[in-house]
Amino acid sequence: MSFTESFASTAQSVMAFGVDSAAVAALPDNALLAAHSLLTEHRRHSDVYAAFIAGEIERRSSREAGYSGLAQRSGFGSTEALLQTLSPVTKVEAKRLVSAGILMASTPATLWESALASTLAAGSLSIAAVDAIRRGLGPVADAAPAADLLAECERLITRAPSVSVDELTREARSARDRLDEAGISRREKQRRDNRYLKRWVRDDGMYQGSFLLDPEGGQHVFTALDAIIAPRRGVRFVDATAAARADAIVADPRTNDQLLADAFVEMVRLAVDADPSTLFGTRRPAVRVVVTEQALSTPDGHGFIEGDSQPVSRSTVDRFICDTGFIGIKFDRKHQVMDLGRTQRLFSDNQRLVISVRDGGCIFLDCTRPPSASEVHHINEWVRDGGLTNVADGVLLCRHHHMLLHNNHWRIIRLDDGYWLKPPRSQDPEQKLRRLVSKSALFAEMRT
Ligand SMILES: [Zn+2]
Ligand SMILES: [Zn+2]
Repeated sequence: MSFTESFASTAQSVMAFGVDSAAVAALPDNALLAAHSLLTEHRRHSDVYAAFIAGEIERRSSREAGYSGLAQRSGFGSTEALLQTLSPVTKVEAKRLVSAGILMASTPATLWESALASTLAAGSLSIAAVDAIRRGLGPVADAAPAADLLAECERLITRAPSVSVDELTREARSARDRLDEAGISRREKQRRDNRYLKRWVRDDGMYQGSFLLDPEGGQHVFTALDAIIAPRRGVRFVDATAAARADAIVADPRTNDQLLADAFVEMVRLAVDADPSTLFGTRRPAVRVVVTEQALSTPDGHGFIEGDSQPVSRSTVDRFICDTGFIGIKFDRKHQVMDLGRTQRLFSDNQRLVISVRDGGCIFLDCTRPPSASEVHHINEWVRDGGLTNVADGVLLCRHHHMLLHNNHWRIIRLDDGYWLKPPRSQDPEQKLRRLVSKSALFAEMRT
């Protein structure tokens, strides 16, 4: 019998078997469970086969093959599109099948990917689990030792059967971050670079849009939106005014989606109407960063945006501390709070007002963002210099320039005649100082 014939007859015998419901009903407990695991294993093995086949279709539909490729000749732009018409798989599942097939058919460049490929081929893990480990763990910088990566990968393979795919992805990501801590800021930048907001007007006159935000920006937007529909999710408010407002929201006939849409328009309207001379950030920060004291003492240390599992770089942690100060909380070994510090090194509202009148907006070279779009940058970073919180130590920077400053290691220094910008050596080998001037119209008038 040829391979094609024996493959077809095996597949057919499984299909022809049918379900004997009376026999299933008569099975004792342990046999019932055994039958279930046998079927699960069988399904995994057929998935492996399906992946091999998908990988082979992909190979025959390669870009080099052009219009004569297998998928293309069948009228499809990609292997995934072809697979979706052949079987009821989603786009994501089709992608997973193809990439699993390619992984098994190729010779992986790394030890850990080889280990994943053989686990997959042996049918001992589901395709979704292998895909989660692979995406979570990679790409890792070359700096991470191959043996450590392999050990982490093997640990995750053992762990996979007892956790969900989402949890597995999360654990794989955090393993990668441990092995490649220096890569945290690179990945953070990548996420930030991927951000966008697109909008268009549809034929029917409706305005539509779509956005993708990095965790920090996303937390800002989601926290604001979540707060609006909080009463509908059963959040209770103790304060009488807030409770009355909450009741009104619950009784509101609008759907959640409509409520959020209206709130979004209202937020934009308020922001546009806001007094540009009022400094942003005089209220409680909506997004917080958490970090350990130990991480603060290492240059590659990292923290987390509260409510998000992706680590953020040391530069981001420093920028948050710079603008909003910090509170030290001491925990014991059982994670019980032992001591709560006071917010330290935070500019008071009055100090912020003074700084904002003095600088008149972001003071970065020719930036024109007003105080309402700016944060206060502390020119002496507290970790490095133990900076004092004097008005003279704070300058206004818009969020973009504040980020640039911390991420690319620019510095602002104060001399007798004012503030100067010191570029990093990578930008200007001579690090020539550039004068920063107040954007306030008042001071501009006085200079002339
Ligand atoms: Zn700063
Ligand atoms: Zn700026």
